Amino acid sequence: MLIIGPPGSGKGTQAQRISERLGVVAISTGDIFRANVRGGTPLGIEAKRYMDAGDFVPDSVTNRMVRDRLGEDDVDGGFLLDGYPRTTAQVDYLDGIIADSKQKIDVVLQLTADDEELVKRLLGRAQETARSDDNEAVIRHRLDLYHNQTEDVIATYAERGILTRVDGLGGVDDVTERVVKAIRDYETVQARSV
Ligand code: AMP
Repeated sequence: MLIIGPPGSGKGTQAQRISERLGVVAISTGDIFRANVRGGTPLGIEAKRYMDAGDFVPDSVTNRMVRDRLGEDDVDGGFLLDGYPRTTAQVDYLDGIIADSKQKIDVVLQLTADDEELVKRLLGRAQETARSDDNEAVIRHRLDLYHNQTEDVIATYAERGILTRVDGLGGVDDVTERVVKAIRDYETVQARSV
């Protein structure tokens, strides 16, 4: 499963909750990058330049990292990718990884939210956390990238008929319930069409 949403839509929180409910491992590319930044690894040093500016880390770096992560044993029982793919080149790359494995993408969940609400939320988060990419100029740049690049990713999965959308506004628990219901409804529809 994939979860896609604009910055501040709560996809990280929802990904954690959904992975627990479904019993599959959640993999967040943003979290892996941040762990590498904290650890001062070569990958972290490379990624930090892009992250601080709100830019995407280059596909070559991100794709290799995802391929390595998806090669680990704990993904055999299924996985939930949070924050990847974000570009159409990453979609193609993920297709290649999946084709080499015995798995497939069952469902892509899109969390939706209004830009101004997201900016407000992220500025609030900036005061609570020390994320270096939560200031207004960088936030707006991250939103632009989402609209300009990641929406093409969403369109691709919509064309494949595996996209389901959920309103990301409101309380965290309400959104989780909406997500769980959307996945269940989606599974029901898929089961009927087999
Ligand atoms: P996130 O926690 O998902 O908002 O990701 C934080 C930052 O990590 C992003 O703003 C990018 O700089 C980088 N990042 C995470 N996932 C990707 C990706 N799939 N492609 C490129 N950069 C990424």
